[in-house]
Amino acid sequence: MTWHDGKYVVADDPIVPFIEGDGIGPDIWNAARRVFDAAVHHTSHGTRRIVWQEILAGEKAQRETGEWLPAATLDAIKQHRLAIKGPLTTPVGGGIRSLNVAMRHVLDLYACVRPVRYYAGVPSPVREPEKLDVVIFRENIEDVYAGIEYEAGSEHATKLRELLIEWSDAHIAEGAAIGIKPMSATNSKRLVRRAIQYAIDRGRPSVTLVHKGNIMKFTEGAFRDWGYEVAREVFADVTILENEVGNEGVGGRIIVKDRIADAMFQQVLLRPAEYSVIATPNLNGDYLSDACAAQVGGLGMAPGANIGDGVALFEATHGTAPKYAGQDKVNPASVMLSGVMMFEEMGWDDVAAAVVTGIEGAIQAGTVTYDLARQMPGATKVPTSGFADAVIEHLSKG
Ligand code: NAP
Repeated sequence: MTWHDGKYVVADDPIVPFIEGDGIGPDIWNAARRVFDAAVHHTSHGTRRIVWQEILAGEKAQRETGEWLPAATLDAIKQHRLAIKGPLTTPVGGGIRSLNVAMRHVLDLYACVRPVRYYAGVPSPVREPEKLDVVIFRENIEDVYAGIEYEAGSEHATKLRELLIEWSDAHIAEGAAIGIKPMSATNSKRLVRRAIQYAIDRGRPSVTLVHKGNIMKFTEGAFRDWGYEVAREVFADVTILENEVGNEGVGGRIIVKDRIADAMFQQVLLRPAEYSVIATPNLNGDYLSDACAAQVGGLGMAPGANIGDGVALFEATHGTAPKYAGQDKVNPASVMLSGVMMFEEMGWDDVAAAVVTGIEGAIQAGTVTYDLARQMPGATKVPTSGFADAVIEHLSKG
């Protein structure tokens, strides 16, 4: 696979590295892989195939190599560009805080992309879940996730407090812990650029910048300003700002608007149809993605991808659910839908559509895993592998 002019050039038999993941990882990965192979075969009548290459991370890597995240794993992702993973245990203690965070930083995967839409038949806590159809682009590297924190009462926190009081007459309680929130034009702009480009490529009507700029002017406020700069300077001919939309309408242009983060949590509940692509800093995006996912049936149905320029890592958004490991029980839809995102990135839209058709078909037939079955009266509860069988049965019915 190569990367040219912002797009992947994909052979008919690309090598795709995979990390099966810890806990329930092997269960959901084996189910998803069967579905992916069936969808590729079905749509190409056997002329295309994925050559899966296992790479190690997490507990399996620790067992087999003594390392949690071997360099060979990162090298394989860099070489083959697109990879997919199951959930990983965060090692307690030791050098690495989180394998996921480490991979994002090392591979410069600056955008966390989370599409959230409703699949017919999935139980939801809201009355019209189908009105929510958003793709959230969350900045993935900066903000309070940069990991710069000083413990309460520590020497560094004390020194920093003194410096901040000297600089800005800040009111910081003695002995306070201090965390730092770095946000740059470079990282904010490339995230927003990616979001607007996605809206163009996928025919989406609007991009909303979600920020808390009324309180944090130089970080969140600047994110909004940098976002609008990208719209004006890079996409002037295809975007229009919300406050410029007059009586003539938008003329096919993508509307760029902004919302304060707290108001946005109301908006996605009360007026979800008004939002399409969302671009937001790291912490807002973390909260907003899960809140949106809850509206359409929860994390079991929510895929995600960590995307950089010419490299991307697709993943289930839930964790390793260790109490269900090896029981062939949990819902594999999140990792299957992450695969849908991967096939779309590859330009294999027909494969992506077949997997979605299969998942929708299985759910509408009431053939679901325990998590959905407990909320769907009359549903047939099947194991992870049984759900994969049902998806495969339905993917040719689109
Ligand atoms: P979790 O593994 O997501 O599990 C929490 C609960 O969510 C499960 O007990 C289950 O709820 C439900 N659940 C999760 N995945 C499901 C699936 N595929 N199908 C059906 N239900 C599912 O969260 P956690 O227990 O907080 O975290 C466990 C480990 O995962 C930790 O080591 C954490 O660091 C790691 N983690 C990794 C990632 C990642 O790699 N991307 C993300 C998050 C957490 P019920 O029991 O109520 O049915």
